[in-house]
Amino acid sequence: MLDILRHFHNFYTRNAISVDSISQREFGIGIDKKINYRHKSFSTQKEFQNFLVNETPRFISHSVGRFEFPWCQPMEKKTLLSADLIFDLDAKPETGVSPNGVEIHNHIFCNNCVEKARLDTIRLIEDFLIVDFGLSKADLLAVFSGSKGFHVHVRSRAVQQLSSSARRLMVDYITGKELSLETFVRSRVVEPRVSTLAGPGKTAVGWQKQFFLRGINAVQNNSFGSAKMPRKKRDYLEQNRQNIVSLIENGNWDFFHGAEDALQNLLSETITLHGVQVDSPVTFDVHRLIRVPGTLHGDTGFIAKPLSLAELSIFNATKHAVAFNGTAVASLKEAASIEFAGTAFELKPGDNVVPLSLAVLLACKGVVL
Ligand SMILES: [Zn+2]
Repeated sequence: MLDILRHFHNFYTRNAISVDSISQREFGIGIDKKINYRHKSFSTQKEFQNFLVNETPRFISHSVGRFEFPWCQPMEKKTLLSADLIFDLDAKPETGVSPNGVEIHNHIFCNNCVEKARLDTIRLIEDFLIVDFGLSKADLLAVFSGSKGFHVHVRSRAVQQLSSSARRLMVDYITGKELSLETFVRSRVVEPRVSTLAGPGKTAVGWQKQFFLRGINAVQNNSFGSAKMPRKKRDYLEQNRQNIVSLIENGNWDFFHGAEDALQNLLSETITLHGVQVDSPVTFDVHRLIRVPGTLHGDTGFIAKPLSLAELSIFNATKHAVAFNGTAVASLKEAASIEFAGTAFELKPGDNVVPLSLAVLLACKGVVL
């Protein structure tokens, strides 16, 4: 039987893990689950590294907050000084089978789920954090969680003192779940018994821009989804398409007067395509613990790997977050299929020679004898 912790120990003897503001962080230690105990602290990087080498926990996380007395409890006694802003993204597993008859979601390790979360993380960073919130790339640290998704740590001074409720507002903005039609289009009375429908135009930014783009697309391509569009309106559109586009570009949405259905459709399409589903308590709870970047994930043996945006753009966990070199024998309880580092492994029950990182993953998942 493969000794997971011996390999984790070897990893920590070879890899120095550096923690930002280490003496002000609270740590949580996981032995047989993610956190068995917390309120632990380390004064120096050396003390932390010695702990990893000598105690070798399966999981280790640190507080998003910095505290004056990180070891104290209850929480209030720690005295919060500042807190990073954290976003946590996991993909929802897709059910069903692909055209070639393979289950889309892999229960051992799912490249599809990680890929979906990776694309969402890039959108979160590029569309929301950089463009809408005005953060700079240098303020952001993207980290593979080591399992199903990604964490984004924001450490700029601008966010350190944000209250929990301000963080919650940011999450609401990113998910788009509080958006309603009134956010985008308003009926305006211009003279008695005449009203126009005003909405975002070509200079709109953020969500308004997204709604605008969907509207233009719908008009240009007759794509109103399941919305009922009155016959008269469709005919009018055929004759006046370019004119309607120019009006919308200038914020005049009169064409959609009496077509509530179509507007609702645009709203839900905009939220589905542009919103990013982040795990909201991770962001607003400043007492939360988050996996220490660079350490190993006890459910997979992968590195919770910090990634530059260039690295994130080509990231593949089974190639870029592996912690171990060499091969090992994995004795499987039953047959399993997995794509690992570009190779499709068809594993049989009993002994299989596989990359050591895959053997550790299989052992962590409990599918070996
Ligand atoms: Zn999946």
